[in-house]
Amino acid sequence: MTSSSSDPVITSSFEAVRRKIARACRIAGRAPETVTLVAVTKTQSDAALEAALGAGQRVFGENRVQEARAHWMSRRAGPGLELRLIGPLQTNKVADAVALFDVIETVDRVKLVEALAMEAAKTGRNPRVLVQVNTGAEPQKAGVLPEEADALIASARAAGLAVEGLMCVPPVDEAPGLHFALLRKIARRNGLSGLSMGMSGDFEVAIRFGATHVRVGSALFGERRTPETTAPA
Ligand SMILES: *Cc1c(COP(=O)(O)O)cnc(C)c1O
Repeated sequence: MTSSSSDPVITSSFEAVRRKIARACRIAGRAPETVTLVAVTKTQSDAALEAALGAGQRVFGENRVQEARAHWMSRRAGPGLELRLIGPLQTNKVADAVALFDVIETVDRVKLVEALAMEAAKTGRNPRVLVQVNTGAEPQKAGVLPEEADALIASARAAGLAVEGLMCVPPVDEAPGLHFALLRKIARRNGLSGLSMGMSGDFEVAIRFGATHVRVGSALFGERRTPETTAPA
C-alpha cells in the first residue's frame, strides 16, 4: 500500500511549487527550511496521493476526518508522515481526529479545547494544535474572532494542549496581506512561532508575512474533482 508511483504532471507541480517557495524565501531573506509545504489532499484520488508520496512529500493536510481516514489509515506506517487537520472539527469527531492527526490546525472554541484535553487524558495522545483565527470576522467562517484569540490561546495552554501557532483563511475577496499581518501580530504577542497561512493563490505573499506552513492543494494536484465542501469534518 505504501509503494508510491510517479506521475510526471504532479511531480513537476511539486517541483514548481517548491521552487516558488524557495524564491519567496530568498526574497524575504528567510531560509527555505523555515517554510513547510503542506500538501492538501482533500478530494484527491489514490493515484494522486501515491504520486505525491512518490514526489517525496510527507506532510499532508485534510479537511474532513472521515476522508482523511480513508486516505491515510493504510498509509500511516509509511516513513515520517505528518497529517494535519485543516477543516472544522466537531466535538463528536474528536476521538477519531486525535487518533489520526499529528496536528489539529482548527481549534477555535473552548468546547473543542475541553474535548481535546479530555481525549488526551484518556488516550495519552496529545496532538499539537494551532488556533484558527477568523481574521476577517466573517460570520460563515470558522475560527475565533481576533479579539477573542488571546483568551482562547490561554485556555488551550491551561488545558495542557500543545499550542504551536495560529492558522487563518483570509476572505476570498480581500487582499490577504493585512490578514496575514494580523495573524502574525496575534502570534507574536502570545509567544507563538507557528503560522499556517497561504494557499495556492497566495502562499508567496504569506511567506513574505512570515508563514511557517503553507497549505497548497490545487497548485499541486490541479482543480479538485468535486466542489470544495464547507461541511464540518
Ligand atoms: C482546500 C484548502 C486549502 C488548499 O486550497 P488551494 O487553494 O487548493 O491551495 C488550504 N487551506 C484550507 C483550510 C483548505 O480547506
